[in-house]
Amino acid sequence: MAWSFDIRSALLVGALLTTVVGVLLLLVTRGLPPSYRRSMYWWVAGTLMLPASFVTMALRDFVPVWTSVVVSNLLIAGGIAAYAIALEIFHGLPRRRLRLWLLAAASVLSSVWLAQVIENVAVRLSVVVLLMAMLCSCVFANLYRSPRSRGRTRHILGTVVVIAIAILVSRAVAMFVAPEQVEGVFALSQVQLASYAVGSVLPVVASFGFLLMCTERSQRDLERAARVDFLTDCFNRRAIEELGARAIAAARRHGTPLAVLVIDIDHFKKINDELGHAAGDDALTAAVARIRTELRAEDMLGRMGGEEFIVLMPNTDSAAAVVAGERIRQSFSGTPLDLDGVLRRVTISVGAAVLAPADRQFSQLLLRADRAMYAAKNAGRDLVISDPMSGWDA
Ligand code: GH3
Ligand code: MG
Ligand code: MG
Repeated sequence: MAWSFDIRSALLVGALLTTVVGVLLLLVTRGLPPSYRRSMYWWVAGTLMLPASFVTMALRDFVPVWTSVVVSNLLIAGGIAAYAIALEIFHGLPRRRLRLWLLAAASVLSSVWLAQVIENVAVRLSVVVLLMAMLCSCVFANLYRSPRSRGRTRHILGTVVVIAIAILVSRAVAMFVAPEQVEGVFALSQVQLASYAVGSVLPVVASFGFLLMCTERSQRDLERAARVDFLTDCFNRRAIEELGARAIAAARRHGTPLAVLVIDIDHFKKINDELGHAAGDDALTAAVARIRTELRAEDMLGRMGGEEFIVLMPNTDSAAAVVAGERIRQSFSGTPLDLDGVLRRVTISVGAAVLAPADRQFSQLLLRADRAMYAAKNAGRDLVISDPMSGWDA
């Protein structure tokens, strides 16, 4: 029994499927965070343009050939460009859209010109294919060439783009080496089957991939929000306690010292009382920036609440911890903070402690650093005091 496969039907089914996906994505968009929405609108635009191009292709026998060629090329090029723009927005890349529109315009104009003037299908196809492949490579670049491009789900879209380029190139190559494979537009050959049957479901897979990228990103944002202090952008108490427990385990395993600094701003209440709560918030943000400039890359900074901060310092003994604490203290007492134009000298009291053999939990280490900090307060503030138990490590 002969198995019949009709390319036109495949195109129409693909178009229907893709349109449904596009409409569903549009419905999903309303529930997405605003930062994702603009990028999703461009994605939906692309996802609706591509099936329209499949329909135009399938109607080739019912409309003038060059209309079908030109309109479907316009829709394909526009659809791919819209995908590239969606990714540009998604990754917060600088706007570089001119090359997209130029490539899209070039593929349409060259298909008009080549269809009308040079009646050479092979040449027309290879020029258009080259331009479309260049558009696809823009999608690929916007997908991977961003520091914000992370996660595994992006490879779904990456694979789709590679397949699309392979299909385009195989058609152009077939034109020259096996023209009978691509000659009749709807003739059933391997190349035709590959390009239309596979090609028509690519936008569906690509959209699935993009939606997964959105959920992966929002998942990551939520996880980050749970670990980061809203005001100052350093670790929050929960995260720093977790990191502290892990740092203790690592220090024990590698036999390296671990130091903790507790930093409390002196007379912080006065800033709030004299300059207002907003200035107090500015002071907290400025203090975090100031502390950060004095830390090493492996140090971890967290806000315990109010105007109290913690620094975890792996691989640091008590002498080095006091040196670091002293450096931070001096950077405060020596240079005033800029609170939205108002310069104000702010001092800090610092308590330092290092991990001792008796410490079973992070809270014990923290308590000693906290006591040292209060000792610094009692001794007159703007001081660094080391916990007396620390120093045994040296
Ligand atoms: P000391 O030198 O003894 O540390 O005195 P202090 O005024 O710094 O400490 P105290 O604990 O008496 O006051 C801390 C103040 O910090 C009280 C509270 O209103 C303020 N505060 C806590 N969290 C925030 C915040 O997120 N923003 C602002 N602006 N103020 C805060
Ligand atoms: Mg204070
Ligand atoms: Mg305090």
